[in-house]
Amino acid sequence: MGLEIVRAEGSFLFDKKKKKYVDLISGISVSSVGHCHPAVVSAIREQLKSYMHLMVYGEYIQGPQVRLAEKLASLLPKKLNCTYFTNSGTEAIEGALKLAKRITGRSELVSFRNGYHGSTHGALSIMGAETFKSAFRPLLPDTRLLNFNAVKDLAQITSRTACVVVEPMQGEAGALPSAPGFLAALRNHCNKTGALLIFDEIQTGFGRTGSMFAFEQEKVVPDILVLAKGLGGGMPIGAFISSRENMEMLTNNPVLGHLTTFGGNAVCCAAAFATIETVENEKLLRGIKKREKIIRRYFRHPAIKKLRGRGLLYAVVLDNEKAVQKVIRKCLAAGVITDWFLFCPEALRIAPPLNIPEKVLEESCKIIVKAIDAL
Ligand code: PMP
Repeated sequence: MGLEIVRAEGSFLFDKKKKKYVDLISGISVSSVGHCHPAVVSAIREQLKSYMHLMVYGEYIQGPQVRLAEKLASLLPKKLNCTYFTNSGTEAIEGALKLAKRITGRSELVSFRNGYHGSTHGALSIMGAETFKSAFRPLLPDTRLLNFNAVKDLAQITSRTACVVVEPMQGEAGALPSAPGFLAALRNHCNKTGALLIFDEIQTGFGRTGSMFAFEQEKVVPDILVLAKGLGGGMPIGAFISSRENMEMLTNNPVLGHLTTFGGNAVCCAAAFATIETVENEKLLRGIKKREKIIRRYFRHPAIKKLRGRGLLYAVVLDNEKAVQKVIRKCLAAGVITDWFLFCPEALRIAPPLNIPEKVLEESCKIIVKAIDAL
């Protein structure tokens, strides 16, 4: 984009020439509470007074990690009560894949076409698009891709399968929600075969799809939950979460089965705790419906083929990639930042901070519709 941003606050970014932009993509679903939220900044400052890094993760008891892990457990179903913190989403996926292999003693990793789980070797191995993989082969063996939302494909999950990794709503496929009942059918197949069910909520977590976690809407609980992005309120942190009993498998045979130096960094954990508290204290989930209505009201246009998504993650599907790029450029010039999707270049990405002022959202939608008018 060639854009140099020198300051960010709430839903706005400012460039060197003091031009103001509305951030309608939240740094790809990271800044859900807005940029530099005062509560998050204050928590970081407070933690800096005590310590930053002390030791590799897990050796010392560190208050910010414990508080954050307890907070996550309080938000989640009982069996998701034990958290391992990482530095990023892809690392959390790596940890989850290793945990599934260790628990089941199996090797097959199942995932879905057009799923995105990260860019490291393990996560790339289960990525659902060949174009991003072929230059880096050989990747992990024993992987299998199924079609998302195709219940009949689930028969390919067998007693050889260690785990099935799925996004409850596929992000990079273009905000593609799981069909009603699909996750329940998947849960059922996993129960029957002993495969572990892993939900990648890296992009959908912390209110993005209208509930704290997307899986709550389908009432299906995974064996392992993976989080990152919006968790840190702008600081780098990821997590994989399971039951205490499952997680203990990483502590023996071999001892220290998963290690990280920086994972669970105290400053990042303090920021994440403040981020979750902000979502709760400012009742951000309640405000999503109103913002969702605004988006649905404005994005009705003959040039819009479909508006896909839920909560505050949308794909505005246009004719083709060229049209999307044209709209992105026009909006940028008018001070509104949008984007496209990795596996759906013919759609415009709309994922503003959850607390974007309604008026700002409306004005931004008008600018986008004007750009679509001009196609
Ligand atoms: N899973 C999903 C669903 C994602 O959207 C992303 C990032 N776009 C990742 C995993 C990888 O996270 P990270 O970039 O922090 O490694």
